[in-house]
Amino acid sequence: MQNVLLNNGVEMPILGFGVYQIPPEQTEQAVSDALAAGYRSLDTAAAYGNEEAVGRAIKASGIPREDLFVTTKLWISGAGEENARHAFHTSLRKLGLDHLDLYLIHQPFGDVYGSWRAMERLHREGAVRAIGVSNFYPDRLVDFIDHNEITPAVNQIETHPFNRRTVDQDVMHERGVQIESWGPFAEGRNNLFSDPVLTEIGAAHGKSVAQVVLRWLIQRQVVVIPKSVRADRMAENLDVFDFELTDSQMASIDAMDTGRSLFLDHRDPEVVSRIGKLQPNT
Ligand code: NAP
Repeated sequence: MQNVLLNNGVEMPILGFGVYQIPPEQTEQAVSDALAAGYRSLDTAAAYGNEEAVGRAIKASGIPREDLFVTTKLWISGAGEENARHAFHTSLRKLGLDHLDLYLIHQPFGDVYGSWRAMERLHREGAVRAIGVSNFYPDRLVDFIDHNEITPAVNQIETHPFNRRTVDQDVMHERGVQIESWGPFAEGRNNLFSDPVLTEIGAAHGKSVAQVVLRWLIQRQVVVIPKSVRADRMAENLDVFDFELTDSQMASIDAMDTGRSLFLDHRDPEVVSRIGKLQPNT
């Protein structure tokens, strides 16, 4: 597995497994299958409601802890210095772990500065190897970096061929923040899996559309965490290190960018208010 080097010297696999929208009762099996397929990096969140199932699969796998890279995320309801510390320990207990590899602020809303102070302390105490954020646009990210002690190691944002986020990636690169894609397949929106450009490029390499998209992201040095509940697709999504897209193929995929989210705009007041009030069972 290819790794990226985070700004604090920690190595992170460039390809991992995401578990958003996998129901808790299906998650243990899915994560067990993913670990058996060879994934070693797992991405969950308190808000997904499946941390316990992820933890059971990790325990059952018998894989040494140091071979795994486990990420979870702090939901808005746990924001603030005291709350975030408590939420972190709740997640750790649910996962059955004694430390995390990466802890992310899930959304740029609520008392993120208080949360970050708690996370900086947890990091100094050795409870988490790296801390980062998610869904931060460049303006918020830069403000956050300039007014905190520790620069986030990672910013996990929607990134796929229809929303390629090059400006975000440039700012992150300048500031030493690793970009991580969520929704690498745009969850199949815009008919991604039957897109003619991606299909043609795949045919040229004997690879699927999914593999082409992951390869495009990996060649851009973007960390990817595709989700699937199917073992055949898990294996397919891992099998992306034996081919290379040409500059012209990369450019053809770049040209699919619409410059807009296919999901939600974190700068839309209605979205900010609606997401800020969500109370998932964390
Ligand atoms: P995604 O990975 O873009 O797409 C998942 C969809 O693609 C599922 O419907 C899956 O179906 C299908 N799929 C997977 N592999 C395939 C293949 N090889 N061929 C055809 N279809 C395939 O979407 P995502 O789950 O939203 O994003 C990935 C991860 O990012 C999440 O699981 C989560 O960990 C993270 N995430 C984070 C945030 C955030 O706010 N930080 C938001 C969203 C997601 P099957 O399962 O039926 O195979």
